[in-house]
Amino acid sequence: MRNITVIGTGYVGLVSGSCFAEVGNRVICCDVDERKINMLQSGVVPIYEPGLEDMVARNKEQGRLHFTTDVGAAIEASDIVYIAVGTPMSETGEADMRYVMSAAKKIGEHLNGYKIIVNKSTVPVGTGELVREVVQANKMAPWATFDVVSNPEFLREGSALSDCMNMDRAVVGSDNPEAASAIAELHAPFNTRVFMTDLESAEMIKYAANTFLATKISFINAIANICERVGANVSDVAEGMGMDSRIGGKFLQAGIGYGGSCFPKDTYALAHIADKSGYEFELLKSVIRTNQKQRMLVVDKLREAIGSLAGKRIAVLGLAFKPNTDDMREAPSLTIVPELLRAGASIRAYDPIAAEAASRLLSDEVMYADSVEAAVVGCDACVILTEWSDVVGMSLAQVRTLLAKPIIIDGRNCFSLDEMEREGFVYHSIGRRPIG
Ligand code: NAD
Repeated sequence: MRNITVIGTGYVGLVSGSCFAEVGNRVICCDVDERKINMLQSGVVPIYEPGLEDMVARNKEQGRLHFTTDVGAAIEASDIVYIAVGTPMSETGEADMRYVMSAAKKIGEHLNGYKIIVNKSTVPVGTGELVREVVQANKMAPWATFDVVSNPEFLREGSALSDCMNMDRAVVGSDNPEAASAIAELHAPFNTRVFMTDLESAEMIKYAANTFLATKISFINAIANICERVGANVSDVAEGMGMDSRIGGKFLQAGIGYGGSCFPKDTYALAHIADKSGYEFELLKSVIRTNQKQRMLVVDKLREAIGSLAGKRIAVLGLAFKPNTDDMREAPSLTIVPELLRAGASIRAYDPIAAEAASRLLSDEVMYADSVEAAVVGCDACVILTEWSDVVGMSLAQVRTLLAKPIIIDGRNCFSLDEMEREGFVYHSIGRRPIG
């Protein structure tokens, strides 16, 4: 059992803090956001993540999980301090490091003995060194010592708890073998492989992994665009490719491209890191461009199916960047819905979880429905942007009768061509022949 403080109680900090508590550690999650901490103290989890509410409640009740806005006191109370603050994209595309630097300064000011400072945020190579310098420069207690470890996070929103409890691997990077071993030991209850390396390589592994996955997505989307032109079916192509164990079937679903809080910002950040290092990462820049163009395909396909969008009523199914999350950061819907509105369409949207978060970011003109059926009724067409289970599982026969015209533009390839043909839809998907 260790005393662990996690600075930053967002998607990563709250999930990993809860998981560390779940396996018996005493964890303090702290944040500068009073609203978030107040909610957590009164038993409300501010984000949607399946299973998280129960895990937080259980560990809070059993006295292993605590929440505070007093970041200084939280640092003083533990000998392992995790940094899990945001590293959003800055205007230049680089990672914005101000939150990490402010956390490091705070750690320096409250260093009251030996501590292992562990960076979980996704950060450019060299940040571990920078954190070391900032902590050292702000150290109030001359006797206090510390080591810096990189332990990047690989969880996926929507399945964050199981990703954390059964992680594929933990990456631990440090120049100090004892500090690295202590952090490796923290992962023993998770029954995972721990990959030990130096600080810089650990930082690089996180960017390399995320940009590789983004590359797989843009690759299959480019293949999808060729499939449409040559009459092939990208779902079959991806399945046939994925059967090769050297390739693997994951991240080969063609669609409207990646979004979310990680891939967009991490691809830009690595392109910047490469530029700064003097290497032109042309492949990655092309991955980013391919992804940007992919979003607008559903708008083009909608126009192809119904002509001008002016005055048309469009149902939009799904707003979150992927199912099982309320995270709207960089969701494709944030580009697509405004484009539909600009073209003169009226929008009725449905998202089972992210509608409220989306309504804060989208125009007031967007109307919201509380079910798939309520969204599609009387609409001239329906556009699918997120493959939520109740979208994939919707009754096609019922939706066909509710829509004014049986037209579906599917940005996530939720349905087989055979069933859409059988059900009598006009159906345009990604990388497959149009129906109707
Ligand atoms: P988030 O925005 O949800 O949470 C960050 C939290 O840090 C916020 O609550 C914010 O108030 C808090 N914070 C900022 N400055 C602070 C400070 N000085 N002291 C205390 N709290 C402070 O971000 P997130 O999605 O949890 O991401 C955190 C990091 O983890 C990022 O670097 C991200 O790239 C990385 N990551 C995210 C995911 C994901 O799926 N969200 C997955 C893997 C890695």
